[in-house]
Amino acid sequence: MILIPDAPHIRSVGLMLSGGLDSSVCAAWLTAQSIAVFAIQLHHPRRPRREVTAADTVIALLGLERRDICVPPPNASAHIPRTVQLSVGLTEARGLGVERLVLADLRSDLPRIGTSVHRLTAEADYIENGSRGPEMWLPFWDVPKLGVKSLADDLAFPVGLTWSCDLDREAQCGACGGCLSRRSAGIA
Ligand SMILES: [Zn+2]
Repeated sequence: MILIPDAPHIRSVGLMLSGGLDSSVCAAWLTAQSIAVFAIQLHHPRRPRREVTAADTVIALLGLERRDICVPPPNASAHIPRTVQLSVGLTEARGLGVERLVLADLRSDLPRIGTSVHRLTAEADYIENGSRGPEMWLPFWDVPKLGVKSLADDLAFPVGLTWSCDLDREAQCGACGGCLSRRSAGIA
């Protein structure tokens, strides 16, 4: 499988890296094109510890620059809203001076949410700073899960390093949304 970058002149990006299959393979794909990747990680209490370990391993394997940001949740049991995650990522990417913020998520609602957040953030940037900051890039959003696995194979990227389970356990549960999505790509 071959994915052609839609802007081959790109030199540097910020990538929202979770340590899951998609963002990890995306990091390998960008690196293989000699694009400098800053791995932006959001840390919060509900993030599985094994996911953090997986991200650390991917960062070390690919030699990525990293930015770690702690995002306090509204309360102890709450997820961080996606709008907040994207706003934080865009703000960090702007500070890094990269050309794009890359989201490797395959969720079908991401283009709509991402476009809305980007529009708002870019407009606020323009009012405050006179420029609109980095573009948002979703290179995988219409790629099927099997396509991501195929790309990983092409890149000889060890997908076993990644962590997909939504739960904070020592072994992937095999039943949550993250695990089922992973299995759909034929990865245990
Ligand atoms: Zn699971």
